[in-house]
Amino acid sequence: MSRVLVIGCGGVASVAIRKCAQADDVFTQMCIASRTKSKCDALAEKLKNKTKCEITTAQVDADNVDELINLINGYKPDLVMNIALPYQDLTIMDACLACHVDYMDTANYEPEDTDDPKWREIYEKRCKELGFSAYFDYSWQWAYKKKFEEAGLTALLGSGFDPGVTQCYCAYAKKHEFDTIDTIDILDCNGGDHGYAFATNFNPEINLREVSAPGSYMENGKWVEIPAMSIKREYDFDGVGKKDMYLLHHEEIESLGKNFPEVKRIRFFMTFGQSYLDHMRCLEDVGMLSTTPIDYDGHQIVPIQFLKALLPDPASLGPRTKGKTNIGCIFTGKKDGRDKTYYIYNICDHEECYKEVESQAISYTTGVPAMCGALMILTGKWKKPGVYTVEEFDPDPFIEALEKYGLPRKESYNPVLVD
Ligand code: NDP
Repeated sequence: MSRVLVIGCGGVASVAIRKCAQADDVFTQMCIASRTKSKCDALAEKLKNKTKCEITTAQVDADNVDELINLINGYKPDLVMNIALPYQDLTIMDACLACHVDYMDTANYEPEDTDDPKWREIYEKRCKELGFSAYFDYSWQWAYKKKFEEAGLTALLGSGFDPGVTQCYCAYAKKHEFDTIDTIDILDCNGGDHGYAFATNFNPEINLREVSAPGSYMENGKWVEIPAMSIKREYDFDGVGKKDMYLLHHEEIESLGKNFPEVKRIRFFMTFGQSYLDHMRCLEDVGMLSTTPIDYDGHQIVPIQFLKALLPDPASLGPRTKGKTNIGCIFTGKKDGRDKTYYIYNICDHEECYKEVESQAISYTTGVPAMCGALMILTGKWKKPGVYTVEEFDPDPFIEALEKYGLPRKESYNPVLVD
């Protein structure tokens, strides 16, 4: 018997909400609140009479802490599920602390305005000290650890697939398969085809910021940064086939480096087709990925936000996307004194996802773990005061929930390694 407040009603949130509605033995009441209330109403209407969960909707500007506090105090949820954008992480965490409610999200904080001089000063110091220059990092949310501990509240960060399930796979490998892990390669392959020359599978602004940033990986506890897309490998993915993949900076490398300090190298690869890369390079060259406002005909326009308005809404890709995703982790290390390799991954089919929840597999593979993370907190399995990432909890109940709600794992004890 739990009451949750979901903030956001985009591609990922819509899947998480539908999955919460499926698990209506735990999610008995849910309020869907977002900037555009009509989207929340439309989804609530679709779920009417299909679930025992009592669903209400609300409008909220999650950049505004006072509005959030009013909403949370009015609804009195057991948990706030932040599935809006990373820009809102800190305001929602502040509101949860003020109202004494547990918190979770699917991506770590990054600011909307990367020209803000106060933020920029801290960012530039971090770039120099840590050695990676992505706009997002965990420091902002880890800074809340003491406040959540003292309040006796749980904050779960990054409960999507990557971050999220990938860290659960790491905790699972450490618990069941290895005495020591030497290397982790996270491989994210999307073999889906939506038929557009260019579109992003989740929020375009967040996605394009992520993939146009320099790549980086962790070696012996230190960051190694490389120019964007400069390390390329080909890999033959189960269920998908051969794809080119590129080394990217990704947020879970940071938390895994902290929580698994013995691991000598942690890398993240994502597949991209040539058309996607050509479009992205061109858009970047002409300044369309910039987050700095320009003056156009008396209006202030942020180029990447204008581009977002032109691109297909990721939520609209569902009915057109065919093919599969394959996301997982390859480990090398030792068990009982012997060298060992292990690959754990999930394969998800875009069309099957659409049949079940009217959404493509990228939103599905993120929305299901968001619901499962909430389930872990609400059922007390992952309840401990403080601010945590997924690998800091027992992986077993989460893996079990993922299997039950649509993301079963596959394993290989003899995987092809990435050189
Ligand atoms: P969308 O752009 O589809 O949805 C974002 C939602 O948040 C929209 O409903 C939007 O409202 C709402 N929103 C935005 N700003 C505000 C605000 N100020 N107040 C209230 N609501 C707001 O994004 P996605 O669903 O693609 O992504 C959601 C999250 O999931 C992101 O944080 C993304 O980084 C993360 N993600 C994580 C992954 C993982 O594996 N861990 C993978 C993919 C995504 P409106 O309808 O008005 O725009």
